[in-house]
Amino acid sequence: MTDSDSLHDHVTEPMAGPLAAPMADCCPRCAFEAVDTLHTSPVPGVWDVLQCRRCLYTWRTSEPARRTRREAYPEQFRMTPQDIENAPEVPALPPLRTSA
Ligand SMILES: [Zn+2]
Repeated sequence: MTDSDSLHDHVTEPMAGPLAAPMADCCPRCAFEAVDTLHTSPVPGVWDVLQCRRCLYTWRTSEPARRTRREAYPEQFRMTPQDIENAPEVPALPPLRTSA
């Protein structure tokens, strides 16, 4: 018989509480304030899928704060208007090789 204390652990830490704070309607990645709602949950009010009009970052409101809130979004992934302006173009696919 093993010690199974862990079965009775009480986790008091709030787990990303549902609707803890109303979502600030600004983009977590670039802080742009024009955000579109792409989808809403089948059960109303559970989540929305939002998209930034400027950088096209898309997220669901039920994702963790580091994906949904500007102040919690990882520093190294944030974008400024300058970053977006200077983002290199995605290279085109080269033509298929015809050798052999
Ligand atoms: Zn954005």
